[in-house]
Amino acid sequence: MIPYGRQEINQTDIDSVIEVLKSDFLTQGPQVPLFEKTVANYCSAEFGVAVNSATSALHIACLALGLDEGDWLWTSPNTFVASANCGLYCGAQVDFVDIDPQTYNLCADALEHKLIKAKQENKLPKIVIPVHFSGQSCDMRRIHLLSQEYGFKIIEDASHAIGGKYLNHSIGGCQYSDITVFSFHPVKIITTAEGGLATTNQSSLAEKMQLLRSHGVTRDSKLMTKEADGGWYYQQVELGFNYRMTELQAALGVSQMQRLDEFVAKRHELQQRYHELLKDMPIKLPYQFLDSYSALHLYPIQLELENITKSHAQVFDELREKGLGVNLHYIPVHTQPYYQNMGFKQGDFPQAERYYSRAISIPLYQGLTFEQQKQVVAVLQRVFH
Ligand SMILES: *Cc1c(COP(=O)(O)O)cnc(C)c1O
Repeated sequence: MIPYGRQEINQTDIDSVIEVLKSDFLTQGPQVPLFEKTVANYCSAEFGVAVNSATSALHIACLALGLDEGDWLWTSPNTFVASANCGLYCGAQVDFVDIDPQTYNLCADALEHKLIKAKQENKLPKIVIPVHFSGQSCDMRRIHLLSQEYGFKIIEDASHAIGGKYLNHSIGGCQYSDITVFSFHPVKIITTAEGGLATTNQSSLAEKMQLLRSHGVTRDSKLMTKEADGGWYYQQVELGFNYRMTELQAALGVSQMQRLDEFVAKRHELQQRYHELLKDMPIKLPYQFLDSYSALHLYPIQLELENITKSHAQVFDELREKGLGVNLHYIPVHTQPYYQNMGFKQGDFPQAERYYSRAISIPLYQGLTFEQQKQVVAVLQRVFH
């Protein structure tokens, strides 16, 4: 089976993890701050806060920005459920903004229309989470302008997008947002097994997220309400969590970061070949805007169902039977039963639903060989024949 995504681990990665195993610290040692610095420097962000998943990073990012009961959080329906669930964790209400049919990213026009209406109804969002779907940046300049006009905060869900660029700046630099979140799950661009990281340029947000990832507890006298009782002393000043990343994960992350540019370049090479090899098939290929250098987490195709005798599900199943570990990103979040129970209905976000009705993600990852890629193309040819 050729999977749709896969980690690439080399001997250097393995050695760096083993070294940690032999060291004094398995958690809360020097590797986590080193990883944070490595990622923050790469993106030209001031601060990086590493945690045990992107889901945790989204949660504490929302809390740091003050999301609370009675507030609204908006995101894209074409995302993993975590981009929306983080709002619910904070007791806020969640709504969605439909996608652009070309990029499958949250559509800035749709956002503006929804903001105009929300302003009239006094239901403006506190936070908007644009998701850089498949690694391509959203229209951040426009979304940022809207945030200034309508007064919301921005968290970029860049789970797909480490190593990508927008207007020649590395994604994660937060030029147009308050916080950016990355995921290091093994299917993403680089991995720490499980893991996530939030970047920001605002020290108050970094400080808050550092507290929240570790029980809301501090040993920093500047953050305490009174002088320390003694050398043992710490204070809990917030209600936090245990969202810490381990030293093993951070060491793997530092090692993987050394090859990030190489990984993304290889993905671009593979994309270019797919573009050429697939151009005559009854499918719509992914589209890249020139202002964006995608990290290329995914290669999503859309079936031209009008020109195919089989259904979407039939094509998907046949690809799986023939050894391609294809997947579908994403089932629109508002169509999940949990969200339907909150009142969302089929038809609420037609562009995301239309995309879902014909999309398939085919294999794309740095370890995919050209030989395997030819195999993928041959299987597609047979299925469409
Ligand atoms: C993978 C992913 C997440 C969640 O990441 P974890 O690290 O698994 O918690 C969130 N948002 C998007 C868009 C993702 O792809």
